[in-house]
Parts: sequence; structure tokens; C-alpha cells
Amino acid sequence: MTAGAADEPTTLSPDDAFAVLGNETRFEIIRTLWEQYEPDDPANVVKFSDLYDGDAAVTFSELYDGVGYGDTGNFNYHLEQLTDHFVRRTDAGYELTEAGFEIARAVVAGTVREHPRFDATEVDANCPRCDAPVVVDYENHHVSAACSRCSGIWQNADGEDGVLFTFSFPPTGLSNRTPQDAFHAALAFNLNRIRSFIDGVCPDCSSVVEESLDVCEDHDPGDRGGCPRCHRQHAIEVSEVCHGCKSVARGPLSIAILAHPTVTSFYHDHGIEHRFASWETFRRGQSVEVAIVDDDPLRSRVTVPCEDDRLRLTLDESLSVVEAIRETSSVRSY
Ligand SMILES: [Zn+2]
Ligand SMILES: [Zn+2]
Ligand SMILES: [Zn+2]
Repeated sequence: MTAGAADEPTTLSPDDAFAVLGNETRFEIIRTLWEQYEPDDPANVVKFSDLYDGDAAVTFSELYDGVGYGDTGNFNYHLEQLTDHFVRRTDAGYELTEAGFEIARAVVAGTVREHPRFDATEVDANCPRCDAPVVVDYENHHVSAACSRCSGIWQNADGEDGVLFTFSFPPTGLSNRTPQDAFHAALAFNLNRIRSFIDGVCPDCSSVVEESLDVCEDHDPGDRGGCPRCHRQHAIEVSEVCHGCKSVARGPLSIAILAHPTVTSFYHDHGIEHRFASWETFRRGQSVEVAIVDDDPLRSRVTVPCEDDRLRLTLDESLSVVEAIRETSSVRSY
């Protein structure tokens, strides 16, 4: 089932891709191939390589019958339009390419059987600011967490306080999950994506990520959830942008830095198993202090507290750690 060099896909611009996919029969071909795909078949574990011997492709007649309409000539024409980019021809028949799978997955992830929402529900988690119970809800494909008592750490677009986070979460993520489970899954799903962005690899298309700091110049949150200018509690935000697929992520520098191995090691030495993609990390992020210490070249300083000790990191403009100093309670060295 290996694809020779002659079968390598030719280039396709986004404009051409939208044009190719703008047809019901072609979508039906992709849907049929996806439905017939068996994810637990070893032949499909490492597709398009010769690691496994086997060809689990769908035959032409199975595909034609599965789509269920169009005369053969017309059907063939549409199949040809998809072939190379979204569909691959093998010795046994046809299968989706990775790009074809991405199309199918995007459709599946957004698919819902029922109205995808749940009402505000108190979960077993406490606000990092005031320790009151956290309340979560799901609407418009987002899990939002808010404090049941204090002004939280963000304001929403209307300037209302109380927000702790709002994370994108596909409706499929609600299946077989309680609101409590969805709360943790939304954190894991998004923080793992953010870690990939921080590592410089777009989690959606693998392109190079452009990372920059967004500093609110007149930052003044006071005792509100967020500053009236930037709507957030933190002055320094990391912006991650993929110009390949236009995927983006933004979040406080205090949380982004918690993915760094020096931080994991610092916590480990204090008996804490620091898992980045977790609510505990989100809570820890609130006690991290950040500051800009130099403008040219840009240098920021992040201080991570733990018990009586502190880890002080200096970051360059690309957010690489250029200095890491531990201050223990017995030795405060500057
Ligand atoms: Zn609170
Ligand atoms: Zn991308
Ligand atoms: Zn601000």
C-alpha cells in the first residue's frame, strides 16, 4: 500500500482546495471513505507506509454504492477531482489522504446530535483567587469557568467580571462526559495545544508558529477581574499565530512558562508532580509573577514560587530561558 513518488500529491492552493470541495458528491465520497475506515485495523495504524503489510482501501464499487448516487461517468469525474489531494488510489481501491481525514475530522468534531450545551454547574475545583467553588458552562463550542464569588481573572467582552477561563471545546468532547469531566478535558485539550504552539509547532497544521508578547501599557486591573483596557488580570500575554492555517492561541506568560522543564524540575524537587495540561497548573499560574526588565533587547522575568523557595527565570524576546536562578529560603542570592 505504499505510494510511489509518481503518486505524490501535486501542489494545491487554498483557493483550489475550496473549489474542489465545493461539491456535494465529493463530500459524500469523503464521508463514505471515512465511514468505511476501520481505525483498529493494523493495516491502518501507520497509513501510507510499508510498516504494516496490508491494504484496507475501499474498492471502487463499494465506494460507488456507498455514495449511492450519480452515474458512473459523473461519479468518476468527481473522484478524479479529489484524487491526489484528499483521496489516494491504492492497489485495492481508494482511501483518504491525511488532508482528506482532516476534512472528515473537522466535520465530525463539529457534529452534534443534541443541542450542545449544559447550564452553569458547580464543579469540584476552587478559584485560584478566593478558593470559592468554580462554576462551568458550555455554550457556542466553548467551556467557560467562572468564580462563584469573586471577580475572577478576566472580564468578558461586556466588561463583566468573574471569568477564570474560556476554552474552545468541540461538541464531540461533551459525549460521555459530565460537566466536571468536560471542565478537565477542556483544560487538557487546550493546554496541550498551547504547549505545541509554545514548542513552535502549530497543533493544527504543523507549520512554524510566530510567537510574540503583547504587553498592556496602561495596565490597571485594580480589584476588578480585568483591566478596563485589555480585559485581563495579567499585563503580559503571549500571542501564538500560525500563518499557515490561521490557527491562534493567546494566554498569560505566567502560564506559558509553566511548560518549561526547569519549572517541572523545580516543582519535582518540592514533591509536586507538575503536569502542564491540568487545572493545578492553571491555578499555579496565578501565583507566578512576570515583569518586563529590559526593552532592547526585550527581556522578561518570571518568578515561580513554591513553598518558601522561588525560581527566577529570565526570558529573551523569543521566550527562551537565558537564565534560571533558584532562590531557596536559606539563601537569597541576587
Ligand atoms: Zn474567586
Ligand atoms: Zn497551522
Ligand atoms: Zn491592561
